[in-house]
Amino acid sequence: MNETSPRLEVSRAGRPQWGDVTTTRPVHVGPVTFGEGLPVVIAGPCAVESLEQTLEIAQEVRDAGAEMLRGGAFKPRTSPYSFQGLGERGLEILAEVRERTGLPVVTEVMDTRRVELVASYADMLQVGSRNMQNFPLLIEVGKAHKPVLLKRGWSATLEEWLYAAEYIAAQGNLDIVLCERGIRAFPLNDYSRNILDLNILPALREETFLPVIVDPSHATGRADRVPAAARAALAVGADGLIIEVIGERTVRADVSCDGEQGIVPAVLRELMAHLRAQTPPISAAG
Ligand code: PEP
Ligand code: MN
Repeated sequence: MNETSPRLEVSRAGRPQWGDVTTTRPVHVGPVTFGEGLPVVIAGPCAVESLEQTLEIAQEVRDAGAEMLRGGAFKPRTSPYSFQGLGERGLEILAEVRERTGLPVVTEVMDTRRVELVASYADMLQVGSRNMQNFPLLIEVGKAHKPVLLKRGWSATLEEWLYAAEYIAAQGNLDIVLCERGIRAFPLNDYSRNILDLNILPALREETFLPVIVDPSHATGRADRVPAAARAALAVGADGLIIEVIGERTVRADVSCDGEQGIVPAVLRELMAHLRAQTPPISAAG
């Protein structure tokens, strides 16, 4: 933030209790807490495709030790002809799966007209990369009184990202978790979908007390790259991860959305064992 900026709600500046870069203001989603204790792992399908698919994956990720379920009911797709998500039926499925597994649910909202609907089902509202600067959406999401997962726009600067968070905070909602999900630098689809910008974590820590998590799935776009990116994120002090998972016996080509990047439950279990064996990182500033 430059010196002429007004004091921001999301900024450490002028907030003595959050002035120290080692402090994070915890965000609670039901029994789950971001920014305190161990990193939180959110896992689940890219998109909710059916009750059976979502329930199977949810049970697997819960058994692996993940604490929250992800899954899109409204999907932001590049092509209007691609699967757009199950809509409200997808939300109903998420609610049923939460009931049966106990996992709180985060799901994306893309449209100001749907904020109330999505908030009536979700435990946490996700604002996706493509909508990080959809200011009317940020305002409506800010009014919804639900924790928010705010993904970084794939070309957003740190300042633009924090101002996006400020739109939510200005509505009186500071329960925001930031999510780095990879940025675009040059065409690199030969080895990675995006570039995972871990450098921004310590830089964010200096500016804000909001918890920051990392999405190694969209950052890499390839299942075989996800574990290394996840471990790297934790090593720089991420407060959690959000990871896409597919069914153990699922054929990638049959997945409606992002089939290439979902890891199978066995890989998640291995990753979780690794993560839990680490002591919590001291702080990104260290
Ligand atoms: C998602 O997490 O489902 C998603 C679409 O990610 P992003 O907005 O980061 O592309
Ligand atoms: Mn996806």
